[in-house]
Amino acid sequence: MTDSLLIAIDGPSGSGKSSTSRGVASKLSLAYLDTGSLYRAAAVAFLESGLDASQTEEIVARVTGTTIVPGTDPEKPSTSIDGRDVTDAIRDPAVSAKVSTVATIPAVRAWLNDQFRAIIDAHQRRIVVEGRDITTVVAPDADLRILLVADPAARIARRQAELGGAVDVAAVTDQVVRRDRDDSTVSQFEKPAEGVELVDSTYLNLAEVIDTICTKVG
Ligand code: C5P
Repeated sequence: MTDSLLIAIDGPSGSGKSSTSRGVASKLSLAYLDTGSLYRAAAVAFLESGLDASQTEEIVARVTGTTIVPGTDPEKPSTSIDGRDVTDAIRDPAVSAKVSTVATIPAVRAWLNDQFRAIIDAHQRRIVVEGRDITTVVAPDADLRILLVADPAARIARRQAELGGAVDVAAVTDQVVRRDRDDSTVSQFEKPAEGVELVDSTYLNLAEVIDTICTKVG
């Protein structure tokens, strides 16, 4: 049997988590799971339901009644809800603005966590998993646990560059700073938990961050 190589990478928005995680997975021939994509898909289900944010029970019923499937190929990320491709839809700023609403519902988190663990097992624990609480809640027993951070100014600049064109600075700042504040009410991703290694990407380019993490694999 092949040895387990489960790499957990947490971090705030704009820290470079997704590009880094995909790069590490490709370099080490591992599968890749972007847990944020499932939270985003859950937010799409919520937005399409027309429910109000205060209708927690109905939101939970609606979200947990869907089938969300993430692709696990680091070269070709994809997400579907009930067989419908939502790979692009989940990146819509309207989804980014509402995702914390569903992500702060404990029953939604528990439902998704079960799915994350099933996906990890289905890949014989040879996978890079990224999110906000992977190092602490989903896979505290991972072979390598990383908290990827960067200064807020660098994170806002990266999100702006990702969105391209003429972007509304206030909206991007909301996506990064406000979202982190809301998310940090349910997950601890600002300081590394015991045994979690801190990588600061503020002054590193993508290739350097990927190399830094790959050299930590024993
Ligand atoms: O990583 P990304 O920005 O795509 O994550 C989208 C949202 O999903 C986060 O803002 C957070 O609300 C939620 N999330 C979470 N726990 C995770 C991954 C994502 O709460 N492990």
